[in-house]
Order: sequence, then C-alpha cells, then structure tokens
Amino acid sequence: MVRYHLETYGCTANRGESRQIEAALRDAGHYRVTAPSAAEVAILNTCTVIETTEDRMLRRAATLAEESAQLVITGCMALTQPDDFAGAGIEATVCGWDEVPAAVTNGECPEVTPDVQPVLDGAIGILPIARGCMSDCSYCITKRATGKIESPPIEENVARARALIHAGATELRITGQDTGVYGWDTGERKLARLLSEICAIDGDFRVRVGMANPKGVHGIREELASVFAANEKLYAFLHVPVQSGSNDVLADMRRQHTVREFREVVETFDAALEEWTLATDFIAGFPSETDDDHRLSVELMREVSPQKINVTRFSKRPGTDAADMEGLGGPVKKERSRELSSVKREIVAARYEELVGTEREVLVVEPGTGDSVKCRDDAYHQLIIREAAERDIEPGDRIPVSVTASEPMYAFCEPS
Ligand code: SF4
Repeated sequence: MVRYHLETYGCTANRGESRQIEAALRDAGHYRVTAPSAAEVAILNTCTVIETTEDRMLRRAATLAEESAQLVITGCMALTQPDDFAGAGIEATVCGWDEVPAAVTNGECPEVTPDVQPVLDGAIGILPIARGCMSDCSYCITKRATGKIESPPIEENVARARALIHAGATELRITGQDTGVYGWDTGERKLARLLSEICAIDGDFRVRVGMANPKGVHGIREELASVFAANEKLYAFLHVPVQSGSNDVLADMRRQHTVREFREVVETFDAALEEWTLATDFIAGFPSETDDDHRLSVELMREVSPQKINVTRFSKRPGTDAADMEGLGGPVKKERSRELSSVKREIVAARYEELVGTEREVLVVEPGTGDSVKCRDDAYHQLIIREAAERDIEPGDRIPVSVTASEPMYAFCEPS
C-alpha cells in the first residue's frame, strides 16, 4: 500500500488521464495524500504547451524530487521531452500515463483487495479474476495484504465478464496480482481455459491479460500461447515482469524464476504469434545488484527488445526482507535506472518506428489528449487518431488505419 501525491497541469484531457491513474492506483490498493512530504511517491502529470510551462514543470519537478522519496513524471512533457528532466539533474521515473501505476508500485504486483469488483469505465471493463499470488518476493509489501492466491471458479469469472460485456465493455482488462497462477490453489492451472471461455462469449470485444509472473506462465506457456494464437479476441499482449537479467539477483529477490525460464516464455510466444507485444519490468539497483548484474539486465533488455518496459528504481518498503539488506547508494541506483530507462526509450521508439507505413485494424479505446482518441491494434500497440470528433470517431469504434508517424512511446494513425 503506497501513499502517493498527484499533481496535474494543463488541459482537461490531462486531468482525465490523472483520473485514470487515480482509479488504477485505488484499485491496486494505494491511497492519495495531499502533501508531497507525506507521500512515498509524488506523481507529476505535466503539460508542455509553451516554453514558460516547461520551465515551470522543471522547477516543480525539482521541488517534488526533493520533497518525496520517489518522483514519477508523466504527461505531455514526459512523452515529448523525456530527457529534459535528467538533463536538469532531476531524479525521476519518466513514463507514459499507462505506466504510472507500475512505476508507483516499485516492481510489486498490483494489489487486488477483496472488495475490488468488476468496474466499467467508459468502454473498458476491469475484471479481477483472483486475489493473491504464489510467490514471496523479498521486496514486496503487497503480499502481506493479499496473501496466497484464492481463485474463484471459472464460471464465476465468466459470468462477471459476460456482465461487463453486456454493460458495454469493448475492452476487457483481466487483472490480479499474478494472473498466470489463477487456479494454482485449486490444483488446476486455469488461466488458458478461462481465457478460452471468455473469448467464447458473444459480442464484439477484446481482452487484455494483466500481469503474469514468469514462474506461473512458464509451466503453462505452450497451452497459453496456443489459446492466444487461436483467439482473435485476445490482444497479442503479455505482461511478464522479469525484474532482472541476473539469476543471482532474481534469487535474492526470491522471484522463483530464472532468466532462462523468462526467455523460454518469450521464445514460445515468438513461435506461436506473428506479432505480439511483450511487456516487462526491470528493477534497477536492488541491494545485492553488482555492476555485472546490472550489465546483464541491460543486455537482456536489448536481447528480448520488449515493446513495453517499466523501469523502477529500487526503494525499500518497510517490513520487507529487502529493506534489511545493505542498500546501494542513491547515485548508483540513479545511474543504473537512468541507463535502463535510456535503453528502454531507444528500444520502444524503434519498435514504434517499425509500425510506420503499416496498415492495421484498431479498436478505439478511450479519449486521448485534446481532440484525439487512443486506439489499440491486435498486438496492443498504442495508436493515436487526432481530430477524432470532426471525423465522428469515438471509443468502441473499430476501424482500419494506416500508421503515419511515431513518437517514442506511441504512434499516430489515420483512418484508411
Ligand atoms: S508475485 Fe511477488 S511482487 Fe507480486 S504480489 Fe506476490 S510476492 Fe509481491
């Protein structure tokens, strides 16, 4: 459970993004405080309309970085000038709006509490399928609140999915601390079967599967990849947080998976799917991480080249075993996090650049900045259509597009 402070600047669209960040953090069990000094994490949702605004954003970021233990910067300036903050000597995680919840949670899984119910937010239906996990990560505080996995029956989750779809959800987001271990407590690994049954529900909708740790996915990777390949309703997207490229660090994190197992999950999906999005997370500066361990993380990131990457600078959570370990100094963590973030930007920008000139079908998912809308293609790439109102395009629409230009973390497209 994290106390966070959120500041938003700019237009109403930016405020809308902040509301979504708030909703995601609320659903993950975190709560908002007013004063940055009372927060473990400060979030700055930036605007970059004019130069004086940029100067103001940089000044505000510098103040928040001093007042809070951790700073996450998102919004327009984070997307368009991500390097300006590091250039101004500001220590922060700079990321897209949808990456903020992962950045805030310090590499831990989202916290799904018993009172979290399915939620319909516009055209997006959020379906928590289970609560708890099968791991005991040494840096995690979430586990204390959630405990071991408790999996409701498949029929119950399918009924909830059906209700969301009938209520108008065109994108169903399946969530949980660790979706890959759904059913482990019942003696049957059930994620693949659940996904097949949800995809069999009548209706025009897409399904995104939330965070699944490598250990859980590894044992069902073939079956899971087959279900993805067979069901067009499933976004070809998997969020498998590896956290480190070093087996020694993974052992100290008590992640219960090896780098080889993570690679095998990636290879299995590569073989089964023509185009898919691998999302993964890296923690920079875990207490026992050596220079060589860090190098292995950089090399792994380059090798698997994920389309979506969350980089989190390690920070101690009270009461966890990792908090008792002798930590690395702030400058070391900062430098490693900066290097991983810079490699991440290079990789993700190149992946989006590869899409320019391609034709694809997208689902319009939600309003974007100004008069734009955010869309997703089959592989869950983030694509933006501008001047949406003029063209009568709104969330829930499905349209063919051409990708016309790219930015570091998304691409623009035009209806074709
Ligand atoms: S898998 Fe690890 S990080 Fe995630 S909730 Fe369980 S113990 Fe925490």
